[in-house]
Amino acid sequence: MALHWKILIGLVAGVLVGLAINRLWTAQTWQAVGVHDVSAFLKAPPHARRVAEAEGGVNADAAFVADAIRFLRNANTFVGQLFLRLLRFIAVPIVLFSLIAGVASLNDIAKLRRIGARTLVIYMATTCVAVSVGLGLANLIGPGRGFPENTRDLLIAREQASVSAKIASAEARPTPWEVALDMVPENPFAALAQAEMLQVVFAALLVGIGLTLLPRGKAAPVVALCETMTNVVVKIVEMVLVLAPFAVFALIVPVIADLGLDVLGSLGLYVLTVVLGLAIVLFIEYPLWLRVLTPVRYSRFFRAIAPAQLLALSSSSSGATLPVTMECCEKRLGVRDDIVSFVAPLGATINMDGTALYQGVAAVFIAQMLAIDLSVGEQLMIVLTATLASIGTAAVPGVGIVMLVIVLQSVDVPLEGIAVILGVDRILDMCRTVVNISGDSMVCAVVGSAEGALADEQTVLQQLESKRNVGD
Ligand code: ASP
Repeated sequence: MALHWKILIGLVAGVLVGLAINRLWTAQTWQAVGVHDVSAFLKAPPHARRVAEAEGGVNADAAFVADAIRFLRNANTFVGQLFLRLLRFIAVPIVLFSLIAGVASLNDIAKLRRIGARTLVIYMATTCVAVSVGLGLANLIGPGRGFPENTRDLLIAREQASVSAKIASAEARPTPWEVALDMVPENPFAALAQAEMLQVVFAALLVGIGLTLLPRGKAAPVVALCETMTNVVVKIVEMVLVLAPFAVFALIVPVIADLGLDVLGSLGLYVLTVVLGLAIVLFIEYPLWLRVLTPVRYSRFFRAIAPAQLLALSSSSSGATLPVTMECCEKRLGVRDDIVSFVAPLGATINMDGTALYQGVAAVFIAQMLAIDLSVGEQLMIVLTATLASIGTAAVPGVGIVMLVIVLQSVDVPLEGIAVILGVDRILDMCRTVVNISGDSMVCAVVGSAEGALADEQTVLQQLESKRNVGD
């Protein structure tokens, strides 16, 4: 069975188990067995629970079920986090070695400049299109118009503390000048140790260029070392990927168990608008770019990157998904490794189409809910700030909503509106991360095709087949 089917099965099974736990967790179920304060009961250590049982007439079976549920959640969180750790372990070495080897083997600095410029321009263009799609839809559907005022005020009052925390972390963020300056590491070893991805990309580019400028004989051993290390890391990725179906299951169970589906409630129309926008980007915008600029058919693209998409959905982190995105682009899509090792890590850090679209919809939704009219000029301002904010958004869960603070500030929309959309942020984070990594992969294919570094479908299939036979 192909890897993406196995991962999909893991995902669906995880959603079902998560929903079952969520149901068991409801207050009514617990009251039926004599527990009134569910979260205190679950958090209480076993001996305290036994006292509660003795004093309050708690059903003894309830304690057993509570332990079983708690174990299931903790075990799943453990397995999921273990998998993410393994991926993070690989991320820095794969970018470092493959980028040095890639740049050195290009052996052409002018070509490097062209690839860099092309990549940046396409990244910016796709993000602008994505925000515009989000704004267009939000204006058309109007998810915030007529939003119940009492629900709004209730949420604003309840989530005050979390919103203040988000505003504080947005305000502590560096200015664009500092972000640009920060790309240049003062100490390359510190950059590697702290996994500062843009700094690692910068350092690897410099080392690669340095190797290009050396006489060939002198550079060859280092280039060969980097190539071998890249192959070693690719082998590790392959080993880790065997665990992916289980990991996806384990990652999704605690998320769904905590959220359930009730959270969608009154925010259904807002969620629908964001998801519809993401679907338009994924199924209409990207296929258009691919059709115009590459020979890749969309079904081939989709099959190739499905494992990375499913992992992005369950981990909500394009950074953690990066090694898998790179593996999919190289081995399953057929883009040459030097292109992938430049375009993909850069994209994981600066290109976030899904996040930018979500910020566009969220800004209009909040404005509509607070009965504020946004002029055309203000909406253009949102396109600009959301595009820039997505560059500064770290590739980890939940940062998109922090950067939303900056987008709202740019058009003077009150920040407390964020409280209303906090509850559904995790679900939307999962969806926008899928689009974020799909955009990076699409640009890999476009740049690969422009550079003549994209294998045709037949060759890719043959390579996959021969690898499978060797594996047998
Ligand atoms: N979770 C997203 C990512 O890693 C970022 C965000 O939108 O919060 O791509």
